Amino acid sequence: MDYKSTLNLPKTDFPMKGNLPVKEKQILQIWEDIDLYGRLLARSAQDPRFILHDGPPYANGNIHLGHALNKILKDIIVKSKFMSGFRSDYVPGWDCHGLPIEHQAEKELKAKQQVLAKTDVRAFCRTYAAQFIDIQRSEFKRLGVIGDWDHPYITMDFDYEATIVEEMAKFFERGEAYRKKKPVLWCINCRTALAEAEIEYQNDRSTSVYVKFPLVSRGDVFKGYPDKPIFMLIWTTTPWTLPANLAIAINPEFTYVAVETEAEILIAVRDLVDDIMAKAGIKDFRIVREISPQVLKEQSFRHPFIDRKSLVVFADYVAKDVGTGAVHIAPGHGEEDYATGLEYSLDVYSPVNEAGELTRDVPFFGGMNVFTANPAILEKLKELGVFFFSEEIEHSYPHCWRCKKPVIFRATEQWFLSLDKMGLRQKSLAAIDEVTWIPAWGRDRIYNMLAVRPDWCISRQRIWGVPITIFYCDSCREPYWSRETFSRIIDEVRQHGADIWFEKDAAYFMPEGTTCSCGNTTFTKEEDILDVWFDSGSSFAAVLKKREELRFPADMYLEGSDQHRGWFHSSLLVSVGNEGVAPYKTVLTHGFFLAAKGVKMSKSLGNVIAPSEIIEKYGAEILRLWVTYEDYRDDIRMSKEIVDRLVETYRRIRNTFRFLHANIGEDFDPAKDRVPLDELSPLDRWLLSKLQRLIERVREAYENYAFHTIYHSIHNFCAIDLSALYLDIIKDRMYVEKKYSTKRRASQTVVFDALIALLKLAAPILSFTTEEMWSYVRPLVADDSVLLSTFPHADPSLVDGRLEEEWETVWRIRELVNKKIEEKRVEKVIGHPLDAKVVIYAAPDEYEILTKHSDELKEVLIVSQVEVEKSDQTEVLVKRAEGLKCDRCWQYALDVETDGQFPNLCKRCRDTLTSC
Ligand SMILES: [Zn+2]
Ligand SMILES: [Zn+2]
Ligand SMILES: [Zn+2]
Repeated sequence: MDYKSTLNLPKTDFPMKGNLPVKEKQILQIWEDIDLYGRLLARSAQDPRFILHDGPPYANGNIHLGHALNKILKDIIVKSKFMSGFRSDYVPGWDCHGLPIEHQAEKELKAKQQVLAKTDVRAFCRTYAAQFIDIQRSEFKRLGVIGDWDHPYITMDFDYEATIVEEMAKFFERGEAYRKKKPVLWCINCRTALAEAEIEYQNDRSTSVYVKFPLVSRGDVFKGYPDKPIFMLIWTTTPWTLPANLAIAINPEFTYVAVETEAEILIAVRDLVDDIMAKAGIKDFRIVREISPQVLKEQSFRHPFIDRKSLVVFADYVAKDVGTGAVHIAPGHGEEDYATGLEYSLDVYSPVNEAGELTRDVPFFGGMNVFTANPAILEKLKELGVFFFSEEIEHSYPHCWRCKKPVIFRATEQWFLSLDKMGLRQKSLAAIDEVTWIPAWGRDRIYNMLAVRPDWCISRQRIWGVPITIFYCDSCREPYWSRETFSRIIDEVRQHGADIWFEKDAAYFMPEGTTCSCGNTTFTKEEDILDVWFDSGSSFAAVLKKREELRFPADMYLEGSDQHRGWFHSSLLVSVGNEGVAPYKTVLTHGFFLAAKGVKMSKSLGNVIAPSEIIEKYGAEILRLWVTYEDYRDDIRMSKEIVDRLVETYRRIRNTFRFLHANIGEDFDPAKDRVPLDELSPLDRWLLSKLQRLIERVREAYENYAFHTIYHSIHNFCAIDLSALYLDIIKDRMYVEKKYSTKRRASQTVVFDALIALLKLAAPILSFTTEEMWSYVRPLVADDSVLLSTFPHADPSLVDGRLEEEWETVWRIRELVNKKIEEKRVEKVIGHPLDAKVVIYAAPDEYEILTKHSDELKEVLIVSQVEVEKSDQTEVLVKRAEGLKCDRCWQYALDVETDGQFPNLCKRCRDTLTSC
């Protein structure tokens, strides 16, 4: 007789294979159809708020893994907040203005040989950005990220542009903006000033040159010196700045000496003399005399190849670990040089044009590109006998973030926001300490940057951006602005966009009769645009403060850790400047993704993995899982091997869901079949206890944004507590026992609770898979979507530490038994574990526990018979089971009857069938 049909075999239609690339799209459609995001907002209307303010990605190109990491992390937080009882509106944004898109416009318009007006270039840029907003939006949605995708914030929206002008105007009106010729980082390739955040440091080879500046007249100080020419020896790594030299800086704390060589007398810091001479290969030299910095400062030196003096000045940043202790100063080409120049009222001389060419008035080198001028200048120095020594050095040098070319310092007229005039720096530093920084080192990072940074250069000589809406008097060239002009412009921009600035002339924006203090009444518009970091830095004003559903300050900003000098930084300055407080309460940062072995992904290394590749092959769920695989607060890796591991983990979790469902399958309804707590077996209660701990751990991890803890907790619970132990053991009672038996229903109760809890806990991460499974349990649960449910609460009354401890002993014995059984199988004494009878000789404490749980022991060990004997030490004996094998449950028993209505069945199985 075939008894298979009488077993309650596991049953589920939930597919083993995810087929995620297809399935995920269907689920996205369902979310769209039920308006998941809208329903989440409606459901949580009365809940406390949690506002995660989106940092806007740049609307250019397809999304890469960095975007995926960023947006999925945000999505996990938003969903977990909704499920924890918050209303967590998420308004995604895009940053649209700026150089990369303008470059794209230039490239495409140039290819068509078009020479276009600024407004045409701007129109091109706007269309271009809009197109990539659409592309990226669908890519972000494909990742399963929920939010107000139909109403994102976009920095090129007219209203947003008007807000930027408004925020900028406040700085002007308070007197914190000023215009000055000052050295700024300048890309000669992009022909624009760059912000500190737009700079990347790379190692470069440069020529370091030692140059002799001749003494003008010897005077009394040098009485008694040998009759040889005297030079100050300076040192520089940027020879092209020598034409702009106006001074030599020495350190007032150092001791300087005059050194006599065969041909001349050189002045340098004492501590470096041996070094310098060794480098130049000069063995024959002697120190003539010490010269105090004070005395040195009173001497006159001449520029090595231009007819002018070079003033000796003091500067305490002059070091003596390298060089000569005398630093060449060009106030137009360096920050420290500039500061020293200010102190000594030197001209901010910068004879380099925007293309990086030395200007025509520079003798010998006029018209030369600065980098090609370097060797020419060296040649000239040699020719004039003022060259001492040069060497190639490798050093970290600033490069443009866009074109990757080395940048220079160049003095130009720029607009700056003063960090110190009205105390913006101090107020911002104080605000930093009101913010929670995760990880904690983020606080020091932004604090230290802000403490030493120069004033914010906000002007750019570009087209695609928001204009600096001020005017210049046509007569005296003084800048002009007023509340009236700003208000008018803000209104105009709100209606027509910032293009209006480029379309109309100055008079259009100025009240009739506007007169400059010089009496003149005609004006010209400023042509520069604002640094794009000011755009995104104003998002708190344009978005958080303006949108009804949001809050200022935001609860959280979450971006990559490079934003300490980017968006976190600019947002802080604009917000503290205009609102007096930081725009965020917490700043959480993530690291960056790296390829295997910790190297960067790059096209040239051929190790780039695009999100779309993973999505099309495995599904977005694998990317979502990836984000939680390692601690994202450090850099996280991505490689084919990691994808394989993720896929493996995913399968294990998916199959655990599936097997849980198969056990409640079609015949369990918690409303009717739930078994009360006191009727659960110890094993059932063990799992419930473990489940409470899981719930607690996972909820705590969500609160602490420690998502990798969730990954590992859920994975371990599925792989060990469920698959390896509980679900393996309950097979007998699930399949063999009467459908309605308490024993079976009790385990189903636990299985059901575990499945629902797991789905909810994993939903913010594995949103697609939990939703898919939710549709299978849907008749038994209230919410239409797992994401509309709330997290389970751990029930402390279900946590039983003592029981867990007892079961630890049981599991230890189980492992021992499994090992012995395996041995007997290899010896062919038994085939299946159910062929075995096990005798356990247990130490007294173990004996007590094993006998206490003797009811479930046979099942736990998956054998036919178990005997436990007290002994001094633990030992396990495996024999062939006694009696006959039951055809239905495959266990051996002494009560198997070979005839009757149900032949070859044990008593349990006979009883089961009779009462069915
Ligand atoms: Zn550049
Ligand atoms: Zn004037
Ligand atoms: Zn049986």
